[in-house]
Amino acid sequence: MEYIKNRPVDRVRELEEASRLTLRPGGDPGCFMCRAVVQTNDRENLIVYRGERVFVVLNRYPYNNGHLLVAPYNHAGRLDEHEPVVHFETMSLTTRLVQVMERDLKAHGFNIGVNLGAVAGAGVPGHLHWHIVPRWNGDVNYMPSIAGTRIISQSLEALYDIMHRALNPTASAADQLGTGT
Ligand SMILES: [Zn+2]
Repeated sequence: MEYIKNRPVDRVRELEEASRLTLRPGGDPGCFMCRAVVQTNDRENLIVYRGERVFVVLNRYPYNNGHLLVAPYNHAGRLDEHEPVVHFETMSLTTRLVQVMERDLKAHGFNIGVNLGAVAGAGVPGHLHWHIVPRWNGDVNYMPSIAGTRIISQSLEALYDIMHRALNPTASAADQLGTGT
């Protein structure tokens, strides 16, 4: 989907940066998730949580406030290319994310799902990622938001702080302020 694709100017810069990164085995330099997980500037890359096998990143081009992606570290796009333990951790983490967003964002409901394959709308079909989209009574409905009508009232920075604090309760104050590494 367009929301997740890089803009042309960003694309050149990111590919230049990617050429200097050491990616994980099997990683794709053209994949923003593969680039992000091997860097340390999680705040800049919008990674709010790193688990054992999967991580959580804010969607830079969200459908709706609070739109998160949960993805394995490994670059593989098919469900059957990931071990069952990856799916278990993904669902456990999704359960936790729902709890946090109900509590801290006062979400009333959620759209949760995955686009498998480019034909299904996957923006990065080579790297599996689950969409977690919180919903509120009276917000835009899902299909118009996919079509590009976005009503985003909360900045990504504010959302990052809320989610990072909730998911990393033992992080230092410096991390919370984004000054850590
Ligand atoms: Zn990837």
